[in-house]
Amino acid sequence: MKIIETAAETKAEVKRLKMQGKTVGMVPTMGFLHEGHMSLVKQSVEDNDVTVVSIFVNPTQFGPNEDLEAYPRDFEKDKAMLTEAGADIIFYPSVDEMYPEGAITMVKLASITETLCGVSRPGHFDGVATIVCKLFNIASPDRAYFGSKDYQQLQVIKRMVKDLNMDIEVIDMPIVREEDGLAMSSRNIYLKPEERESALSLSRSFEIVERLIDAEEISADVVQLSVEEFIAGYPHTEIDYIEIVHPERMTEMEKLTEDFVVALAVKVGRARLIDNKFFSVKK
Ligand code: AMP
Repeated sequence: MKIIETAAETKAEVKRLKMQGKTVGMVPTMGFLHEGHMSLVKQSVEDNDVTVVSIFVNPTQFGPNEDLEAYPRDFEKDKAMLTEAGADIIFYPSVDEMYPEGAITMVKLASITETLCGVSRPGHFDGVATIVCKLFNIASPDRAYFGSKDYQQLQVIKRMVKDLNMDIEVIDMPIVREEDGLAMSSRNIYLKPEERESALSLSRSFEIVERLIDAEEISADVVQLSVEEFIAGYPHTEIDYIEIVHPERMTEMEKLTEDFVVALAVKVGRARLIDNKFFSVKK
């Protein structure tokens, strides 16, 4: 496995491999890897001749009061996990390498970023789209793997690929959870033991939605309120948003007469946790 720190060397290496007719899969990450990330890497290794994993804590997707500095990092452990999984290249650039002085070009998105995390983290998705666009230009992947845990991010990337005519297949992967149901996240490290139970309120709230849908509840407001009351009933929780949205457009739904996604962002102590679930509505 090669560790490459510059865009130019990564480009040259990928070009060399593509000349040999090899297919390339890419998994963009911010590191501090867990089994959620590894499910993406393993799928890429299975689907492609070459897998490029990027590890880069991208400053342009963090707001001024967010956890950029504190974001957990452990490159040695990441490297060992990626070697074991059979990744071929780790692209591990510095901030200067990705954003050299004088850089002024960003990818800017509209509409689907004006809901959910797009509201509570202004500029976040422009930062995500910009870095992913740059990573795609550097590694020229045939396929790119993203987790549906970051559901809105996945929709943003799919839309960007379509809008900018990128020749990349975006593969969405299911959420990997801990045994108790907590969605795996690098940020779970921030949770104190006494906050763990509260963190489970997110995944547990989906059972409430399930029950309401089974009872043929069609009001999104009723479902939203029930979830809100449930999560707020746990200590240490501070709800950022609870939204019921259309699976692709990410627009709010009023009547649950077609498939929908419940998307949650809740602060539990220091950790801002997100989770979501797709619900299929029987017609
Ligand atoms: P991050 O390092 O948090 O930027 O995540 C890198 C990629 O891993 C993104 O596509 C995430 O959606 C994905 N990912 C993170 N956590 C999980 C999880 N629990 N299950 C599946 N994919 C995940």
